[in-house]
Amino acid sequence: MWVSLRRGPHVSQELSVSSVYCIGLNYADHAAEMKSQRPDEPVVFLKPAASLVAGGGTVAHPVISTDMHHEVELVVLVGQDAPLLTLANAHEAILGYGIGLDMTLRDRQQQAKAKGQPWAVAKGFAQSAPVSAFIPAEQMPDPGALGLQLLVNGQPRQQGHAGQMLFSVPELLVYLSSIFSLRRGDLIFTGTPAGVGPVKRGDQLQARLLHGETPLLQLDVEIV
Ligand code: MG
Repeated sequence: MWVSLRRGPHVSQELSVSSVYCIGLNYADHAAEMKSQRPDEPVVFLKPAASLVAGGGTVAHPVISTDMHHEVELVVLVGQDAPLLTLANAHEAILGYGIGLDMTLRDRQQQAKAKGQPWAVAKGFAQSAPVSAFIPAEQMPDPGALGLQLLVNGQPRQQGHAGQMLFSVPELLVYLSSIFSLRRGDLIFTGTPAGVGPVKRGDQLQARLLHGETPLLQLDVEIV
């Protein structure tokens, strides 16, 4: 699967994605709504790269679930093969920022949690990872000001900003690089703020990446 980095109004660079890392429970308000403890280290799971819906489009509601939820997330595009990053150099590994949806089969996830089983089905099903194009990191002088917003059928559902994360983007990069082989083109879904909820067929989702109050990117998804 490929994602697009917007170098300019008419110039895009395509990057091949190998791994899609996702962080759970990275906002205190979402951890609270899930009745989960604040994690003392990042909660990591993966989605298949083939589950990406790059640039938005349609997401088919899986028949195995009656409770698919939206989770809007800031997504980081990794720009280099990155062994053992430190807080001092982690920013050098960030190529771009985008907005994505970690679509989640909440009923399947709760069943898996109850049985101590993995989340692969609940989180990694086909089309579970719609993601926007990416804005180059060098055009983002203050990543801490990045915000995210989700509307469903025009109604605001989720709102948050990078400054609310329990583990910052550099901290996540350091952590992931200490365990996994981060590669150029990998994506990191950095967790969702409060307000997650169910979607149904026919719903129109608009996810926005903001800088302060300024919209930078929009991702449009229809549930079918
Ligand atoms: Mg999530």
